[in-house]
Amino acid sequence: MVHIKILLGGLHQEINSFAPGNTTIEHYRRKQYHMGADMLSFAAQYHRCNEGTDLLGGAYSVLAEAGAEIVSGGFMSAQPGSIIEQCVLDDYIAQLKEAVKANLPLDGVVLVMHGAAQSVESDDPEGDIIVAVRELVGEDVPITVGLDLHANVTERMIKIANTISLYQRYPHVDVWETGVRAAKLCLGILSGEIKPAMAYVQVPMIIPASSYTTEIEPFKSLMKMGHDYVAAGKLLDFSVSQMQPWLDVKDGYSSVVAIGEDREEAAAIAKEMAAAFYGMRHEFKTELTSVDEIIRIAEKNHSGKPVILNDFADSSNAGSAGDSPEAIERVLALASDVKGLMYINDSAFVAACQKAGVGSTVKAEIGAEYSKKLFSPVAVEATVRALFDGVVSFHGNFVDFGPSAVVKIRNMIVVVTTQHRYNGDPTLYRAFGYEPADFQMVVVKANTSFRAFYGPLTDLIYPAATKGSSTSNLESLPFEKVPKSFYPFSDNDFTPTVNAFGK
Ligand SMILES: [Zn+2]
Repeated sequence: MVHIKILLGGLHQEINSFAPGNTTIEHYRRKQYHMGADMLSFAAQYHRCNEGTDLLGGAYSVLAEAGAEIVSGGFMSAQPGSIIEQCVLDDYIAQLKEAVKANLPLDGVVLVMHGAAQSVESDDPEGDIIVAVRELVGEDVPITVGLDLHANVTERMIKIANTISLYQRYPHVDVWETGVRAAKLCLGILSGEIKPAMAYVQVPMIIPASSYTTEIEPFKSLMKMGHDYVAAGKLLDFSVSQMQPWLDVKDGYSSVVAIGEDREEAAAIAKEMAAAFYGMRHEFKTELTSVDEIIRIAEKNHSGKPVILNDFADSSNAGSAGDSPEAIERVLALASDVKGLMYINDSAFVAACQKAGVGSTVKAEIGAEYSKKLFSPVAVEATVRALFDGVVSFHGNFVDFGPSAVVKIRNMIVVVTTQHRYNGDPTLYRAFGYEPADFQMVVVKANTSFRAFYGPLTDLIYPAATKGSSTSNLESLPFEKVPKSFYPFSDNDFTPTVNAFGK
């Protein structure tokens, strides 16, 4: 076969503009920071686990199987969080440019990113990255991109990339497959098999991530429409972006991307899907239950299935800090003996537990370590059950929760960590020695994503009316850049037009 050389890499992080502090290089180093040859060995050994890194794994597997020479553009990923320090983005782009220059001429580029990043100086870091690569590789080298369904796909990204493919499922159980799609599109262009035309339509709305999934209506039908067009041979690929709703950027939109071989047909389909998408806006709603009511329901729960107190407003995958003590505060206020299981991120509390030692009682404040404007810490009396280094195996990959303590507060087992990580998977509690099914109530700080993992365990799921940086009440947040003409701030008519075509 013909020798082809493809650069693979990307910066992957989802930003919450309202989360406290800034994301620093340390946040990446504690999660995924793989530059140079290290990225290639990491990608080759990586196991699928439905996290963003699966984009890299999926793309790598396709390129490797095709016998391509894969060169590293470096890959870095941090837990969703606050706005990225500018030097972190600048350093990544500088390293990526060096990698491109050292490997010219390249046949193709595959970039795997989240799509909802924001740095101190840039509202479109992924656009900055694609532009930097395009300037070096020239106009004729295909650049294909894999992103999250919650990406902010910008007009600039569309105009300089050849294809952009987003996850098509939420909960995100097709992250690996999205990496596969992006890599296959690149190989298809290189072999001459396909000549993609990409049409992009912006949709003026942002919707809380807790209020929909692609697995049920109305979103299910919209995705089926796209899949039917692919099956009928009218499209090669399609994406629907529900822009990360806690991202306050200029040029931020939800959107539809349709990729076909016929530009006009792709444009017509993108417009049709965008109109249908906007038409569903009133159906994307989160039904909330108060924390007190959920605790009362859980106290009476002897079903053998846990009640999920879904504190999505403090979701680790929506950039919140995971330090809301609201569930603990209410359990104490109600003097409830509910048998509960909970996760919270608080390094000072872990330090107090380490100092006291296993078996001892700690009297200290818990919570609000970072989100001081949102919450107040809660004074608790906790028994230290166990201390851990916090490195746990998540589906074969190591995830670092940092030094951690397991404590008992009233009848609640609370896992306290020093690094906020994805907690929407029962694997977390199992790693610390507790089975969620043994509890009356489990607190999960995640949006819809957790339903893929908790769904087999329970159907007693209650999105809670909690406070947090990732609240579903978008009108309560201090948006400055997203236009007030967007739904839900306004509710206007909308006529879709093609805002841009891809390369
Ligand atoms: Zn997402």
